[in-house]
This record gives sequence, C-alpha cells and structure tokens, in this order.
Amino acid sequence: MSIQNNLNDIKSQLPEHVTLVAVSKTKPVSNLLEAYNAGQRIFGENKIQEMVEKYEQMPKDIQWHMIGHVQRNKVKYMASFVSLIHGVDNFKLLKEINKQAKKHNRIINCLLQIKIASEESKFGMTLNEAEDILNSADFSELKNIKVVGLMGMATFTEDLNQIEKEFKLLKTSFDRLKILQTANCKLQTVSMGMSGDYKLAIDCGSNMVRIGSSIFGTRNYSN
Ligand SMILES: *Cc1c(COP(=O)(O)O)cnc(C)c1O
Repeated sequence: MSIQNNLNDIKSQLPEHVTLVAVSKTKPVSNLLEAYNAGQRIFGENKIQEMVEKYEQMPKDIQWHMIGHVQRNKVKYMASFVSLIHGVDNFKLLKEINKQAKKHNRIINCLLQIKIASEESKFGMTLNEAEDILNSADFSELKNIKVVGLMGMATFTEDLNQIEKEFKLLKTSFDRLKILQTANCKLQTVSMGMSGDYKLAIDCGSNMVRIGSSIFGTRNYSN
C-alpha cells in the first residue's frame, strides 16, 4: 500500500471530530511530501532538531506538532513555528515555552501530558499535579502559552483491558480539568491513540490520534 492509500484508508475510518496527526519521525522528506500531496497538513515529530530540518524543507502551510519529550534548552529552536506541543509535563517547561513564545510575539498551544501508563519509563504528571498547575497564580501569568488539552500514552502491552482503563483515565482527567477555563487554559483536545490502538482510544473519548507506522510503514532505527 502507498502512503496515500494508507492515509485515505485511515481517514475514512476516523469520525469527523477526530484530528489526525501524521507521525513522520525518522521518515525522509519525500515520504512527508507524499502525505502532503494526499492532503495531510498536520505532522508530528518527536525530536526538535529533526522537526526543524523538515520544517525548513516542507511547504509552509503545515502544522507541526511536537509529540516527544521536550528538553527545555531546545524549546527556542521550534518556538517560531511549532503549532502544538503535546508532551508538556512540568511547570518549568511551560515557563520556558512561554518565554520563547513571547520572543516571537505569539501564543504557543500546549497539551499537558498525563501519566496514564503503569510503566516506569513513561513521562507525564498526575491529574493532581496538572490541576495544581492550572490553578496556580504563577500559571495565570503565562500569557504566551495556552493549555488546550491533555495527552497520554498507554502502556505498551497486548492487554486491551489495561489500555482501555488507561485511556478512560485520561478522558476522566480531561472532564475534570475542562471546567477550569481561564485566559490561557481551555481544554478541548484529548490526544491519545496510535497505530495499534487508535480505534479503542476514539471509543474512549480521544479526538486527536497520532498515527505513524500505519501511514508511513514500520520505522527503521538502525540508520
Ligand atoms: C511514534 C509515536 C507515535 C506513533 O506511533 P505508531 O505506533 O507508529 O503509530 C504516537 N505518539 C508518540 C508520542 C510517538 O512517539
């Protein structure tokens, strides 16, 4: 199957309210262009340097999403163009994003990453930590960021019951936090679901799925 066919196939299965982020990490620009020419305009990358390089080479009407773990000292490289940062999991990072966004006289949309997986290795904050941040006076002073939703990654397991439980936890967290509407906080997006579990994620309330290998094929990390 071609990238175009894969894309059309997935899009035909997504409900209208669900946004598709095409995860193009490790893939060459030629692959991204194929998706672009098939109509895709939202791309997700997990490394800032790689996203910057692709941003420079690709058409300028693309929305670039940073879906990976973000190191504070690298925020500056993407601050001029990034459209949504999914993996925000601490207040210091929010502050740095705000600072860099201000330099470019813009507002950067962010998702708070909630730890829903039981695995030790997954990043993210607890619901209570997120709630504390959103309620804090320090947060209300960040005028150049806007928290527009939550992001989560389920445990890497075959156990669909466990994945479902974790997705439902993210949706419950979203429902609880979305009542906190302020100048820089209005939760609308629930980013959860990847190639292997996006249908389940949508059933559990996702409205943004991040799909890589089902569009671009399996990734080869050896080169
Ligand atoms: C790689 C990645 C994806 C896409 O994974 P696939 O299984 O290839 O669809 C989604 N979200 C994040 C955070 C990723 O790093």
